Amino acid sequence: MKAVVKTRPELGAEYLDVEIPKPGPRDIIVKVKATSICGTDVHIYEWNDWADNRIGSTNLPQTLGHEVAGEVCEVGNDVRMVKVGDYVSAETHIYDPRDITALLGQFHIGERMKILGVDTNGAFAEYIRIPESVCWVNDDTIPPEIASIQEPLGNATYAVLGEDNDIAGKSMVIIGDGPIALLAIGVARVCGATTIFHIGKYDLNMSIGKKMGADYQLYANKELDRVAYVRDHTRGFGADIVLDMAGSQLALDEGFKVLRKGGRFTAFGIPSRSPLPIDYTNGIVFKGSQIHGISGRKMFDTWYRVRNLLSSKRLDVNPVITHILLLEDYKKGFDLMMERPRKSAKIVLFPHKDGYEKALGRRKQIRNE
Ligand SMILES: [Zn+2]
Repeated sequence: MKAVVKTRPELGAEYLDVEIPKPGPRDIIVKVKATSICGTDVHIYEWNDWADNRIGSTNLPQTLGHEVAGEVCEVGNDVRMVKVGDYVSAETHIYDPRDITALLGQFHIGERMKILGVDTNGAFAEYIRIPESVCWVNDDTIPPEIASIQEPLGNATYAVLGEDNDIAGKSMVIIGDGPIALLAIGVARVCGATTIFHIGKYDLNMSIGKKMGADYQLYANKELDRVAYVRDHTRGFGADIVLDMAGSQLALDEGFKVLRKGGRFTAFGIPSRSPLPIDYTNGIVFKGSQIHGISGRKMFDTWYRVRNLLSSKRLDVNPVITHILLLEDYKKGFDLMMERPRKSAKIVLFPHKDGYEKALGRRKQIRNE
């Protein structure tokens, strides 16, 4: 089969012929219909310090990718949850049931947890092997390009809803213009946040944020008192919830300032260097802030909600998908992902021509509506 493989610890990847994977007793083999490019894939493609430390050159070659939708074509002998023909996606955090966090219901942050496409061969291929334990059966009405982005949409949903799902009638500031920030705007909107501020940088992404339902948009790279603006539009109070999806010093500084007393600050952005200073005294202690870190999705509560949001058609994430490409054109996808100012949001790849053409047809139809 064809696969996009990271072969060397340097920029790039290769489109190669590799063996079709075989299932272990509790694995499934999925024929990939669609697979989307994530920021994590870009780190591995670029082979930055994170990739070098996290994966290491001795573990290459490895197939890239972890966001996926496809059809089960083979199952291991002990697989009970899914069957051949099922339409599935994958939670990428492969939990280990021995972890105490798993026993406590926090499957997504275990000590022994592995990540699909980071610790294992990934989805930028015609077929992928996935442990049954992280398999998720999709609703048939959700097209593959949408089903594939349920993983980042899950990050967005978990970040927006937090642990208490208490956002109805509340104000929210979403900082960032990557795909997950844009998806978060849509989730916040349909789940009942009533005032949504979006802080971003790039025109294309700001226009998508508008389509996704932002009430107010503020440029992070323009001279403007954003803290005063948010206060002015929340009766001087500040926002109930702040989502940092940028991971910059500016996002942290302003994020804690625009947060109201007793509000929730959700941390998702990953800074290019760490640690970063924060105003601990005024931003957290005296403010009585709640801090919520997001690593993955709540398993499988988030997946359940995401499937319902999509299949009910309450949430339309199509505006966030800016490009669909054949898998063999992965280089173009990565170039687009790395370009600044941003010229893309979510990019979905198709290993098979027929699936790609059907997706093109759906995109055309959406544009004409
Ligand atoms: Zn991802």
